[in-house]
Amino acid sequence: MQERERTSDPIDASDYYIESVIDDHVKMAMRKAAEIPVGIAGECSGCGEYFGRLVDDYCGRCRDKFERYIK
Ligand SMILES: [Zn+2]
Repeated sequence: MQERERTSDPIDASDYYIESVIDDHVKMAMRKAAEIPVGIAGECSGCGEYFGRLVDDYCGRCRDKFERYIK
């Protein structure tokens, strides 16, 4: 009965493909994250909320938001 779960139908194969693509994105994100400074805890200068990790006084959300205007 266990063999039935290890079927190789096309849906399983496409799931595996999607997972491998996501995995690539995760690896890319991890490489990018490694380049980002560690940051400090405090209040965000952008939204005023407290975050455990700020970089240049901004939370990740605000840095993403402001980056569009800075560039
Ligand atoms: Zn913020």
